[in-house]
Amino acid sequence: MRKAIGVDIGGGSIRASLFDESGKELESIVSPTPENLDNRSFLTILKDTIQPLAKNCLGIGVGSPGPLNNEQGVMIASANLQGLKNLPIKESLIEAFSLPVWYENDANCAALGEAYFGLYKDTESQLTVTLGTGVGGGFVNKGILYSGYLGNGIEIGHTTSVIGGALCGCGVRGCVESYFSTRGFLGRYQEKTNRRLGHAEEFFQLVREKDALAREILDFGILALAHAVRGAIQLLNPEAVVFVGGITKSYDLFGKTLEKEIRSTIFPVLNDRLKIGSGGSLSGALGAASLVFSKEKV
Ligand SMILES: [Zn+2]
Repeated sequence: MRKAIGVDIGGGSIRASLFDESGKELESIVSPTPENLDNRSFLTILKDTIQPLAKNCLGIGVGSPGPLNNEQGVMIASANLQGLKNLPIKESLIEAFSLPVWYENDANCAALGEAYFGLYKDTESQLTVTLGTGVGGGFVNKGILYSGYLGNGIEIGHTTSVIGGALCGCGVRGCVESYFSTRGFLGRYQEKTNRRLGHAEEFFQLVREKDALAREILDFGILALAHAVRGAIQLLNPEAVVFVGGITKSYDLFGKTLEKEIRSTIFPVLNDRLKIGSGGSLSGALGAASLVFSKEKV
């Protein structure tokens, strides 16, 4: 069976896995990355992580946070990987392994993984929304990823939900990411209480304990997210909308309301076909490996 390597570059570690075409993980290697990074040392860790897997496979797919240039295969910069700048991922891996290499942002990889191996793989098109530290998105139509100019398309997290709203990390006010993401929930909670929560789990725990302020922030966040997704549905008409990422662990606290708000605001005819739900908890590495299987198909 054909095999591919998927590499998930995150803040803090690199995970490389070998998959067969059915999406089965055959072997995995995880390397922590130090806090103080520079291009050279990072590329050495990246190559050392992939090395033991690079035999008898079709190619290497890599996913990382953006912004990036997917044509040149360069990570321009990343908020979670301070110290790296214009990192030539594709060129270094081709030189080291003489294999084809594809590189896309992690949300696009997640979308492709969902489209090929997820719960909604039998639908014609999927809009995948990643809910984690921030909000990302990817769109796959008939098995083909729409990646936009240099791979920076479908940045749904930085579409405006609240005109003149809270300041986002991107420098603009009112992005949906400022209302429905770890960064958003913690930021809004701190604004009102001066209390800095550690992570999203803590925030959702407060919601479960019936903390009125946390509930209010979540309820507004649900509306903000619903309307950002509504906008994307009106533009793309996907057959499925799939929510993935760490925050979907708490889907029971917001999923129903979110789906209802989306369904009641899009064109009614779209509801006949549209499926909405949380995804299949696929690994980021599988999403990245899907780049290889997908390109081989085209
Ligand atoms: Zn933004």
